[in-house]
Amino acid sequence: MLYVKAPAKINLTLDVLYKRPDNYHEVEMVMTTVDLSDRIGLEPREDGLIKIVSADRYVPDDQRNFAYQAAQLLKDTYGVEQGVNIHIEKEIPIAAGLAGGSSDAAATLRGLNSLWNLGLTLDELAVLGAKIGSDVSFCVYGGTALATGRGEKIEHIATPPSCFVVLAKPKIGVSTAEVYGGLKIEGLEHPNTKQMLKAIETNDYDLVCASLGNVLETVTLNLYPEVVTIKEQMQRFGADAVLMSGSGPTVFGLVDSETRATRIYNGLRGFCDEVYVVR
Ligand code: ATP
Repeated sequence: MLYVKAPAKINLTLDVLYKRPDNYHEVEMVMTTVDLSDRIGLEPREDGLIKIVSADRYVPDDQRNFAYQAAQLLKDTYGVEQGVNIHIEKEIPIAAGLAGGSSDAAATLRGLNSLWNLGLTLDELAVLGAKIGSDVSFCVYGGTALATGRGEKIEHIATPPSCFVVLAKPKIGVSTAEVYGGLKIEGLEHPNTKQMLKAIETNDYDLVCASLGNVLETVTLNLYPEVVTIKEQMQRFGADAVLMSGSGPTVFGLVDSETRATRIYNGLRGFCDEVYVVR
Protein backbone atom coordinates (compact mmCIF):
# COMPACT_ATOMS: atom_id res chain seq x y z
CA MET A 1 0.00 0.00 0.00
CA LEU A 2 1.20 3.48 -0.88
CA TYR A 3 0.30 6.12 1.70
CA VAL A 4 -0.12 9.80 0.79
CA LYS A 5 -0.86 12.72 3.10
CA ALA A 6 -3.77 15.03 2.26
CA PRO A 7 -3.49 18.21 4.33
CA ALA A 8 -6.32 20.69 5.00
CA LYS A 9 -6.10 24.31 3.88
CA ILE A 10 -7.28 27.55 5.39
CA ASN A 11 -7.96 30.82 3.58
CA LEU A 12 -6.06 33.76 4.99
CA THR A 13 -8.02 35.86 2.51
CA LEU A 14 -10.94 35.03 0.26
CA ASP A 15 -12.20 37.71 -2.10
CA VAL A 16 -14.76 37.50 -4.87
CA LEU A 17 -14.21 40.04 -7.64
CA TYR A 18 -17.15 39.41 -9.96
CA LYS A 19 -19.42 36.76 -11.38
CA ARG A 20 -18.23 35.50 -14.75
CA PRO A 21 -20.31 34.78 -17.85
CA ASP A 22 -19.67 31.04 -17.24
CA ASN A 23 -21.34 31.49 -13.81
CA TYR A 24 -18.17 30.86 -11.82
CA HIS A 25 -17.01 33.58 -9.46
CA GLU A 26 -13.69 35.23 -10.17
CA VAL A 27 -11.83 34.89 -6.86
CA GLU A 28 -8.60 36.01 -5.24
CA MET A 29 -7.52 33.89 -2.27
CA VAL A 30 -4.42 33.48 -0.16
CA MET A 31 -4.40 29.84 0.93
CA THR A 32 -2.05 27.87 3.11
CA THR A 33 -1.94 24.25 4.25
CA VAL A 34 -2.15 23.37 7.92
CA ASP A 35 -0.95 20.16 9.55
CA LEU A 36 -4.31 18.48 9.89
CA SER A 37 -4.36 15.72 7.28
CA ASP A 38 -6.35 12.81 5.93
CA ARG A 39 -4.34 9.72 5.08
CA ILE A 40 -4.90 8.13 1.68
CA GLY A 41 -3.77 4.54 1.13
CA LEU A 42 -3.54 3.34 -2.47
CA GLU A 43 -3.66 -0.40 -3.08
CA PRO A 44 -3.35 -1.73 -6.65
CA ARG A 45 -6.16 -3.91 -8.06
CA GLU A 46 -5.75 -6.03 -11.14
CA ASP A 47 -9.42 -5.97 -12.18
CA GLY A 48 -9.37 -2.32 -13.28
CA LEU A 49 -11.99 -1.18 -10.75
CA ILE A 50 -11.82 1.81 -8.42
CA LYS A 51 -13.09 1.20 -4.88
CA ILE A 52 -13.33 3.63 -1.98
CA VAL A 53 -12.73 2.17 1.46
CA SER A 54 -13.49 4.37 4.46
CA ALA A 55 -14.75 3.85 7.99
CA ASP A 56 -16.33 7.32 7.94
CA ARG A 57 -19.99 6.99 7.03
CA TYR A 58 -20.12 10.53 5.62
CA VAL A 59 -17.47 9.81 3.00
CA PRO A 60 -19.16 8.93 -0.32
CA ASP A 61 -18.01 5.46 -1.49
CA ASP A 62 -18.76 5.88 -5.19
CA GLN A 63 -18.06 8.27 -8.08
CA ARG A 64 -19.27 11.20 -5.96
CA ASN A 65 -16.02 10.92 -4.03
CA PHE A 66 -13.42 13.38 -5.36
CA ALA A 67 -10.65 10.81 -4.85
CA TYR A 68 -12.62 8.36 -6.98
CA GLN A 69 -12.97 11.06 -9.67
CA ALA A 70 -9.22 11.66 -9.54
CA ALA A 71 -8.47 7.99 -10.20
CA GLN A 72 -11.09 7.79 -12.96
CA LEU A 73 -9.68 10.90 -14.62
CA LEU A 74 -6.15 9.44 -14.69
CA LYS A 75 -7.44 6.12 -16.02
CA ASP A 76 -9.47 7.80 -18.79
CA THR A 77 -6.83 10.34 -19.77
CA TYR A 78 -3.86 7.96 -19.84
CA GLY A 79 -5.57 4.67 -20.65
CA VAL A 80 -4.53 3.02 -17.39
CA GLU A 81 -5.87 -0.53 -17.11
CA GLN A 82 -5.06 -1.15 -13.46
CA GLY A 83 -7.56 -0.44 -10.72
CA VAL A 84 -7.09 0.76 -7.19
CA ASN A 85 -8.55 0.53 -3.70
CA ILE A 86 -8.49 4.03 -2.23
CA HIS A 87 -8.45 3.87 1.56
CA ILE A 88 -9.46 7.20 3.11
CA GLU A 89 -8.68 7.78 6.78
CA LYS A 90 -10.53 11.00 7.51
CA GLU A 91 -9.12 13.52 9.99
CA ILE A 92 -10.30 16.67 8.21
CA PRO A 93 -13.90 17.52 9.08
CA ILE A 94 -16.27 17.14 6.10
CA ALA A 95 -18.11 20.05 4.45
CA ALA A 96 -16.13 22.34 6.71
CA GLY A 97 -14.40 24.85 4.43
CA LEU A 98 -11.07 23.07 4.83
CA ALA A 99 -10.96 21.50 1.34
CA GLY A 100 -10.89 17.96 2.69
CA GLY A 101 -12.41 16.35 -0.40
CA SER A 102 -10.23 18.40 -2.74
CA SER A 103 -7.11 17.45 -0.81
CA ASP A 104 -8.05 13.76 -0.97
CA ALA A 105 -8.39 14.12 -4.75
CA ALA A 106 -5.04 15.90 -5.01
CA ALA A 107 -3.27 13.28 -2.88
CA THR A 108 -4.82 10.55 -5.03
CA LEU A 109 -3.50 12.24 -8.19
CA ARG A 110 0.00 12.52 -6.71
CA GLY A 111 -0.02 8.97 -5.37
CA LEU A 112 -1.38 7.31 -8.50
CA ASN A 113 1.07 9.29 -10.65
CA SER A 114 3.77 7.41 -8.83
CA LEU A 115 1.98 4.04 -8.42
CA TRP A 116 1.07 3.93 -12.12
CA ASN A 117 4.40 5.40 -13.29
CA LEU A 118 2.72 8.18 -15.27
CA GLY A 119 5.64 10.58 -14.94
CA LEU A 120 3.41 13.68 -14.79
CA THR A 121 4.65 16.96 -13.33
CA LEU A 122 2.83 18.71 -10.48
CA ASP A 123 1.78 21.38 -12.99
CA GLU A 124 0.17 18.72 -15.18
CA LEU A 125 -1.56 17.16 -12.18
CA ALA A 126 -2.83 20.59 -11.12
CA VAL A 127 -4.40 21.17 -14.55
CA LEU A 128 -6.10 17.77 -14.36
CA GLY A 129 -7.20 18.47 -10.78
CA ALA A 130 -9.02 21.65 -11.80
CA LYS A 131 -11.45 19.42 -13.73
CA ILE A 132 -12.54 17.87 -10.44
CA GLY A 133 -12.84 21.06 -8.41
CA SER A 134 -11.43 24.56 -8.17
CA ASP A 135 -9.47 23.89 -4.95
CA VAL A 136 -7.84 20.68 -6.20
CA SER A 137 -5.09 22.51 -8.11
CA PHE A 138 -3.89 24.29 -4.97
CA CYS A 139 -4.01 21.02 -3.02
CA VAL A 140 -1.80 19.29 -5.62
CA TYR A 141 1.06 21.61 -4.59
CA GLY A 142 0.13 22.49 -0.99
CA GLY A 143 2.22 25.12 0.75
CA THR A 144 1.10 28.72 0.43
CA ALA A 145 -0.26 30.38 -2.69
CA LEU A 146 -2.29 33.15 -4.22
CA ALA A 147 -5.12 31.48 -6.11
CA THR A 148 -7.02 33.38 -8.79
CA GLY A 149 -9.39 32.62 -11.66
CA ARG A 150 -12.00 30.31 -10.18
CA GLY A 151 -9.30 29.23 -7.73
CA GLU A 152 -7.29 27.08 -10.15
CA LYS A 153 -4.59 29.60 -11.13
CA ILE A 154 -1.81 29.15 -8.59
CA GLU A 155 1.06 31.48 -7.80
CA HIS A 156 3.38 30.15 -5.11
CA ILE A 157 4.34 32.58 -2.36
CA ALA A 158 6.53 32.51 0.75
CA THR A 159 5.59 30.56 3.88
CA PRO A 160 3.68 32.75 6.37
CA PRO A 161 5.12 33.40 9.85
CA SER A 162 4.69 30.19 11.83
CA CYS A 163 2.04 30.23 14.54
CA PHE A 164 -0.61 28.09 16.18
CA VAL A 165 -3.92 27.74 14.41
CA VAL A 166 -6.96 26.78 16.47
CA LEU A 167 -9.69 25.28 14.27
CA ALA A 168 -13.25 24.92 15.50
CA LYS A 169 -16.10 23.48 13.48
CA PRO A 170 -19.67 23.96 14.66
CA LYS A 171 -21.96 20.96 14.26
CA ILE A 172 -23.28 21.99 10.85
CA GLY A 173 -22.15 21.29 7.31
CA VAL A 174 -22.17 24.12 4.80
CA SER A 175 -22.79 23.80 1.08
CA THR A 176 -20.22 25.84 -0.85
CA ALA A 177 -22.67 26.27 -3.74
CA GLU A 178 -25.37 27.65 -1.43
CA VAL A 179 -22.98 30.18 0.10
CA TYR A 180 -21.70 31.42 -3.26
CA GLY A 181 -25.31 31.53 -4.45
CA GLY A 182 -26.26 33.83 -1.58
CA LEU A 183 -23.37 36.24 -2.11
CA LYS A 184 -24.19 39.83 -3.06
CA ILE A 185 -21.08 41.21 -4.71
CA GLU A 186 -22.20 44.83 -4.87
CA GLY A 187 -21.23 46.78 -1.77
CA LEU A 188 -18.90 44.02 -0.48
CA GLU A 189 -16.09 45.06 1.79
CA HIS A 190 -13.08 43.45 0.10
CA PRO A 191 -10.10 42.08 2.03
CA ASN A 192 -6.76 43.74 1.36
CA THR A 193 -5.05 40.91 -0.53
CA LYS A 194 -2.01 43.04 -1.43
CA GLN A 195 -1.42 43.83 2.22
CA MET A 196 -1.68 40.13 3.09
CA LEU A 197 0.91 39.30 0.41
CA LYS A 198 3.21 41.96 1.83
CA ALA A 199 2.69 40.68 5.37
CA ILE A 200 3.72 37.19 4.29
CA GLU A 201 6.66 38.42 2.22
CA THR A 202 8.00 40.42 5.17
CA ASN A 203 7.15 37.68 7.70
CA ASP A 204 5.07 40.18 9.69
CA TYR A 205 2.74 38.19 11.98
CA ASP A 206 0.83 41.24 13.25
CA LEU A 207 0.17 42.41 9.70
CA VAL A 208 -1.02 38.90 8.73
CA CYS A 209 -3.48 39.08 11.62
CA ALA A 210 -4.62 42.55 10.57
CA SER A 211 -5.09 41.51 6.92
CA LEU A 212 -7.34 38.45 7.33
CA GLY A 213 -10.62 38.71 5.42
CA ASN A 214 -13.25 36.49 3.82
CA VAL A 215 -16.20 37.93 1.89
CA LEU A 216 -18.16 34.67 2.29
CA GLU A 217 -18.60 35.50 5.98
CA THR A 218 -21.30 37.97 4.86
CA VAL A 219 -23.40 34.97 3.78
CA THR A 220 -22.50 32.17 6.19
CA LEU A 221 -22.60 34.26 9.39
CA ASN A 222 -26.14 35.33 8.48
CA LEU A 223 -27.27 31.78 7.75
CA TYR A 224 -25.63 30.19 10.79
CA PRO A 225 -25.49 32.27 14.00
CA GLU A 226 -23.45 29.48 15.67
CA VAL A 227 -20.49 30.53 13.51
CA VAL A 228 -20.75 34.06 14.92
CA THR A 229 -20.78 32.63 18.45
CA ILE A 230 -17.64 30.55 17.82
CA LYS A 231 -15.85 33.60 16.39
CA GLU A 232 -16.75 35.62 19.46
CA GLN A 233 -15.67 32.87 21.85
CA MET A 234 -12.35 32.44 20.11
CA GLN A 235 -11.72 36.16 20.36
CA ARG A 236 -12.75 36.21 24.01
CA PHE A 237 -10.38 33.33 24.87
CA GLY A 238 -7.49 35.31 23.39
CA ALA A 239 -6.89 34.60 19.70
CA ASP A 240 -4.85 37.28 17.95
CA ALA A 241 -7.16 37.17 14.92
CA VAL A 242 -10.16 35.09 13.91
CA LEU A 243 -11.69 34.23 10.53
CA MET A 244 -14.00 31.73 8.89
CA SER A 245 -12.25 29.46 6.39
CA GLY A 246 -13.61 29.02 2.84
CA SER A 247 -17.40 28.90 2.81
CA GLY A 248 -17.33 27.76 6.43
CA PRO A 249 -18.45 26.82 8.92
CA THR A 250 -14.96 26.16 10.35
CA VAL A 251 -13.52 29.16 12.16
CA PHE A 252 -9.78 29.50 12.76
CA GLY A 253 -7.89 31.62 15.24
CA LEU A 254 -4.23 32.58 14.95
CA VAL A 255 -2.16 32.58 18.11
CA ASP A 256 1.57 33.01 18.59
CA SER A 257 1.80 31.40 22.01
CA GLU A 258 1.23 27.75 22.87
CA THR A 259 -0.20 28.61 26.30
CA ARG A 260 -2.86 30.78 24.75
CA ALA A 261 -3.59 28.20 22.04
CA THR A 262 -4.20 25.60 24.77
CA ARG A 263 -6.41 28.02 26.71
CA ILE A 264 -8.55 28.68 23.63
CA TYR A 265 -8.71 24.95 22.87
CA ASN A 266 -9.88 24.13 26.41
CA GLY A 267 -12.36 26.99 26.43
CA LEU A 268 -13.94 25.99 23.13
CA ARG A 269 -14.11 22.27 23.91
CA GLY A 270 -16.95 23.10 26.30
CA PHE A 271 -19.42 23.82 23.50
CA CYS A 272 -17.82 22.58 20.31
CA ASP A 273 -16.99 18.91 19.58
CA GLU A 274 -14.51 19.48 16.81
CA VAL A 275 -11.61 21.64 17.94
CA TYR A 276 -8.01 21.21 16.81
CA VAL A 277 -4.75 22.99 17.47
CA VAL A 278 -2.40 22.77 14.50
CA ARG A 279 0.57 24.69 13.08
P1 ATP B 1 -14.05 23.37 0.20
O1 ATP B 1 -13.34 24.05 1.31
O2 ATP B 1 -13.17 23.00 -0.98
O3 ATP B 1 -15.35 24.00 -0.21
P2 ATP B 1 -15.16 21.58 2.10
O4 ATP B 1 -14.08 21.34 3.10
O5 ATP B 1 -16.17 22.61 2.45
O6 ATP B 1 -14.49 21.93 0.72
P3 ATP B 1 -15.47 18.77 1.68
O7 ATP B 1 -15.05 18.21 2.98
O8 ATP B 1 -14.55 18.62 0.54
O9 ATP B 1 -15.95 20.28 1.81
O10 ATP B 1 -16.88 18.07 1.36
C1 ATP B 1 -17.85 18.62 0.52
C2 ATP B 1 -18.72 17.49 -0.03
O11 ATP B 1 -17.94 16.69 -0.90
C3 ATP B 1 -19.23 16.55 1.03
O12 ATP B 1 -20.58 16.81 1.24
C4 ATP B 1 -18.99 15.15 0.51
O13 ATP B 1 -20.19 14.46 0.28
C5 ATP B 1 -18.28 15.33 -0.80
N1 ATP B 1 -17.01 14.55 -0.90
C6 ATP B 1 -16.52 14.03 -2.02
N2 ATP B 1 -15.35 13.42 -1.82
C7 ATP B 1 -15.05 13.56 -0.52
C8 ATP B 1 -13.96 13.12 0.28
N3 ATP B 1 -12.93 12.42 -0.22
N4 ATP B 1 -13.98 13.45 1.58
C9 ATP B 1 -15.01 14.18 2.08
N5 ATP B 1 -16.06 14.60 1.37
C10 ATP B 1 -16.12 14.29 0.07
